[in-house]
Amino acid sequence: MLTAKAEPVSDGDGILHSAHHTLPVPSVVRLTRYVKVPYRTHIGLSRRAIFARDGGRCAYCRGSAETIDHVFPRSRGGLHAWENVVAACAKCNHSKGDKTPAELGWRLHAAPAAPRGVAWRVLGHRTPDPRWADWLDLPKSAEAEAA
Ligand SMILES: [Zn+2]
Repeated sequence: MLTAKAEPVSDGDGILHSAHHTLPVPSVVRLTRYVKVPYRTHIGLSRRAIFARDGGRCAYCRGSAETIDHVFPRSRGGLHAWENVVAACAKCNHSKGDKTPAELGWRLHAAPAAPRGVAWRVLGHRTPDPRWADWLDLPKSAEAEAA
């Protein structure tokens, strides 16, 4: 902002002080020149990312998730891939064991898939500032769904 490469769009928290300047910390800035964002094409599969995709909810009972479950069990050749992993509560994960949801008559809340959208491509599983919602297609958080 001091060299006019960016302009503030909305203020964040606090004030920045330097020897000669005082300015509010921005929450969103607009770059004055177009910059190609180095989008990630593949979103890494991690426990944190799976919990973020699933909003911390169990894919089977929608309770609070504590574990990761392979929908088609790994012991039977199920892949460790976005399409085969879900967040699950310990109770569902334990009862499911090495069975498939179909064998138990269980239904998944949603078919698991790799996360999509600008927010994921830019932020990954990092928690976005809610003030960015006007600028990114943020997924609804579990708290927002419950409210
Ligand atoms: Zn559950």
